[in-house]
Amino acid sequence: SMKLPRRTLLVLCGPAGSGKSTFAARYFSAIPTMVVSSDYCRAMICDDPTNQQVNRDTFDVFHYIIRKRLFNGRFTVADSTALHAEARRKLWELAFHFGYLKCLVVFNVSLATCLERDRLRERQVGPQVIEYHIRLLQKALQEIPAEQWDRVYLLNEHDMEATIEIDP
Ligand code: ATP
Ligand code: MG
Repeated sequence: SMKLPRRTLLVLCGPAGSGKSTFAARYFSAIPTMVVSSDYCRAMICDDPTNQQVNRDTFDVFHYIIRKRLFNGRFTVADSTALHAEARRKLWELAFHFGYLKCLVVFNVSLATCLERDRLRERQVGPQVIEYHIRLLQKALQEIPAEQWDRVYLLNEHDMEATIEIDP
């Protein structure tokens, strides 16, 4: 159960196909604009949610939108893989800057499950990317304890049930 203050940045972290966007859509369906997705930012600037040539601009837009939401006191979910320490640090610092609660939700999902879920979806990233992401996840799991998140929620493929309450 996650009981979260209004001023929370909920950072999703996990491999492609681990279920981050599905989780976000499920728990924040009432106000979908709470979820800021790096894939959507990528599509907004180049009409292609898979174009890796525009990473820099994609994350400029991603961080810019998040910054404006935090400035406005809005509860925000950051939907990106956040598997690199540098990606998590940037989001951590945005939350810190605005006095937000810094929460990390880690999708600790096995390679087999990510591969299977990727295979079944429309836009596939493929096994090579997922294998790489799983290695990054293992590294992230070692790094995260020292990163000073206020809260870390570890989800796995068998247990993605959560009750999320946001203070009025
Ligand atoms: P990406 O980083 O590529 O955006 P993602 O982590 O956002 O990936 P999703 O797109 O949410 O992953 O999920 C990948 C696929 O797995 C989807 O087809 C989705 O329907 C399915 N899926 C997600 N969560 C679950 C779940 N808990 N149980 C079964 N299938 C799931
Ligand atoms: Mg996604």
